Amino acid sequence: MSNLNGYFDYNATTPLSPAVKAAMINAMEEFENPSAVYADSDGIKRLMAGARADVAALIGADPEQIVFTSGATESNNWVLRSILERKDRAGAFVTSAIEHDATLASGRVLCDQQGRAFRIVSPDGEGIIPVSGVERACWGDVALVSIMLTNNETGAIQPIREISGIARGANAFFHVDAVQAAGKLPVDVGALGCDSLSLSAHKFHGPKGVGALYIKDPGALAPMIVGGGQEGGLRAGTENNVGIAGMGAAAAEARARLADRTAHVTALRAALLSELHRRDLSFQINGPSDQTQTAQCTLNLSFPGIRAESLVARLSLVDGIKVSLGSACSTNKNSRHSHVLQAMGLDEARLVGAMRISFGRYTTPADITRLAAALEDGLGIIQGLAAAE
Ligand code: PLP
Repeated sequence: MSNLNGYFDYNATTPLSPAVKAAMINAMEEFENPSAVYADSDGIKRLMAGARADVAALIGADPEQIVFTSGATESNNWVLRSILERKDRAGAFVTSAIEHDATLASGRVLCDQQGRAFRIVSPDGEGIIPVSGVERACWGDVALVSIMLTNNETGAIQPIREISGIARGANAFFHVDAVQAAGKLPVDVGALGCDSLSLSAHKFHGPKGVGALYIKDPGALAPMIVGGGQEGGLRAGTENNVGIAGMGAAAAEARARLADRTAHVTALRAALLSELHRRDLSFQINGPSDQTQTAQCTLNLSFPGIRAESLVARLSLVDGIKVSLGSACSTNKNSRHSHVLQAMGLDEARLVGAMRISFGRYTTPADITRLAAALEDGLGIIQGLAAAE
């Protein structure tokens, strides 16, 4: 059974909350097909409608603008494919170097197949995508601009509103990957000015394998998959009602707790930094120096003179503490360093010594003290060994 003790990998995934589990168990009792016409299927229809309304409310959308998917990887792939395969959408695909691979890899494949220009905007040294960089990339015909709202590795919050103005000026479709923001920060699709936005339930205490795509104008996208006409004809297949109910409950809960959550993670971050300073540990923060541009639940740190791999392994094996080297998904690949930190232009020592700490709802001040003590011990030993070599 998994253990939340020492868990500092909330950006990779979050545990189901009790309210979400209850909603999912309740949904298991509703076995009818949501597309059925008899009266007994009202329960499951109500449940699905309620979940759609709760997800919509989380991001300031209308329920008709929400399509449930299997997660944000699917949502991102769908938008990219649907827009880039449209005959009337000529021109480049503009994105950033710090996107999740759900955007970068699918964009690369599609642009290669179609011979389409693939323009990648670099972030600055703190992980923020410069609006001027997007502006420079948006010349000539531009079919699609896709930029994330919050970076999963550094917590950098991107200037989406301004970028939206540029995408609009270029007549491009504008997609936002809001996976690390939805349920964590206020997200309002109207204020952001996007045409579509992806979210994933398991990042805010919902189940894995379910997510959503907000589409401002549902007629703008070709169906993800065709068949029985479910999800407004945009994503066919009998719906995952248990997962969808869980996502709805998670969205409602996240919305109700947003202010408390922000205060909680802000205090935890400050406490961790002050503990690290009190113990006289030397480190650099990889991410924005401006706290208003930082998701407070994420702290990406580089410790000098060590390989973060060794420290992360020690924390896990000796202290039972779980932190990440970068994004959980990129650890499945063989790339040597985080593509995000590399794009920020960090030097080799800083890349090698980087780890991501992310916390959330169930992290306590005692967990923070334990993490700081374990970091102090681990660094003492690893830096001592390195010096002796
Ligand atoms: N986009 C970002 C920014 C993410 O952090 C992740 C997951 O880590 C994804 C997309 C993929 O989401 P999912 O796990 O729902 O496929």
